[in-house]
Order: sequence, then structure tokens, then C-alpha cells
Amino acid sequence: MRLVTFNAFSIGVLTRDGVVDVSAVLPARWRGTPLAMNQLIEDFEQLRVRIENLATTGAPAPVSGVRLLPPVPAPTHLFAAPLNYKRHVGEMENSTIVHSGWETGTAADLGFFLKAPGSIVGSADAIELPNLPGRVFHHEPELAAVIGREAKALLPGKGLAAVFGYTCLLDITLRNSPADKQERVMRKSFATFSPIGPVLVTADEIADPGSLGVRLWVNDQLRQEANTRDLIVPVGELVERASQVLPLRPGDVYATGTPEGVGPIEPGDRVRMSIDSIGSLELDVRRRTW
Ligand code: MN
Repeated sequence: MRLVTFNAFSIGVLTRDGVVDVSAVLPARWRGTPLAMNQLIEDFEQLRVRIENLATTGAPAPVSGVRLLPPVPAPTHLFAAPLNYKRHVGEMENSTIVHSGWETGTAADLGFFLKAPGSIVGSADAIELPNLPGRVFHHEPELAAVIGREAKALLPGKGLAAVFGYTCLLDITLRNSPADKQERVMRKSFATFSPIGPVLVTADEIADPGSLGVRLWVNDQLRQEANTRDLIVPVGELVERASQVLPLRPGDVYATGTPEGVGPIEPGDRVRMSIDSIGSLELDVRRRTW
């Protein structure tokens, strides 16, 4: 099933004919709120048949006629893997942008970091770069896993079963420079620095999250092309490990790391990423106006 959040936090199923509003399956107190998708995910097993029926019988609206929001606008946690592709480790070690003495720890050693959930935007928004002369902002396309249920202390091998679905995520990053060494959490948490979506694809439609092509273009120029088979820590294990730290919540988003080929973006650029079987996410880059 391909789910979207649209207009005033309505929940939709994306069908061949357009978006069908299935918000009616939710209790009134959650409908039309930023938490609607979190609740739909939490109750999905009970709601699934009603959602499928509505998706078949409801009137589809053309995708071009709705405003697509981030599919999960308000996760409790936005986890992210640090270096999690071997070739990206190499390019960061050799980078002139990052400071010397770059630490080569990977997701295997370091675990996760957090991005502020308030940095999430959707495909109808733009990536807004703050005016920081001399600083460089990078694109990082990532497979994002969305958690399906409260998950605490998962046993090895149980991580993927806790995943509800998958979506595209751009982990926009202010790079450190020799003169400026700032906290990673802050450099990745500027407003608009976490575009996600537009479609949340349920896990049953993804045969193997460890075998998905990931690509990124800037102005139609291919900049990154990789496959999730090269993840150092695979999706399920990322989830298992995070669940040892704190209980994961339905709707939590986990950005699994970027492959090699990161590079700068500038106001006026258009950034597009795609992941096999999931779809594509495309946004303009602008100068922030505040
Ligand atoms: Mn990243």
C-alpha cells in the first residue's frame, strides 16, 4: 500500500487513479492533525481492511490537485545513521571540506544521531539554505525506514518486523569546515533540512530493503548512484540497536545513511532522489528569507 499525507493532514492511499482520502478510518480526535499518520500506523492491523475498502470505493483525486505533505509530519524521533556506506567513509576521509582529523567511526561503532523532527518538510516545500557565507551544504539521499509499533530491546533478527514501511529522505547537511566545527545534530537540523516522502510504501511491498537502488540528481545531473546492499549496518540491525537505547514509537523515522557522491547544493538548484520500488522526491533549493 502506498500512503500519503495531504492537504490539511488528510491520509490518502495513492492508487492508479489518484489519491483516495481514507482519513475516515481514524477516530475524530486524530483526523486532520499532524499525528494522524502516527495513529494510523499504530492501529494499522485493525484498520487495514477498512482502509483497503475505502481505497477501492472512494473517489480518487488527481495527484496534481492535492498538496502532498511529508507522509509522517511529526515522528516522535528522527533517527539517522552516521557513515553507513564504505565508499562514503572513504570520500569523507579524503574530503577537503571536513576538518582534518576526521573520525572514521561508522554506524557500526557510533550508533545513531538525531535530527530535529521540526526540520521535516515535504515535496511541496523547498530546501531553504541559511545565509552562511563560505559554508557548504550537501545533499544526502537516504532510504528511510518508518517504525510500525512500539519496539523495545528487539532481539537480533527482529528489527525488520518492526518496520512499517519505507520512504525517501534527504539528509541536508551543513558541512564542517576547518574554521567551523559544529555539532552534527545542529548542522543537520536547520528548518527544511529533512525532506521526506512523498509516498510511504508499506513493508510488504518491498521484497528486500537491502537491495534497493538509490539515486540523486541535481538539475538533472546524476550525482549519486548506489544500492542499499552496500549498507555497513543493514536496516533491521539499525532498528534493533536503536531499540536497545529507548523504545521506538510508531511513526518514528530512521534515515539509514547516504552513499558516496555527496556534493554541494545552491539556491536555484533542483534536487531529485529516487529509490527503487518506493518512488522519487524532488524539491527546489532556495535562499532562506528569514
Ligand atoms: Mn546522512
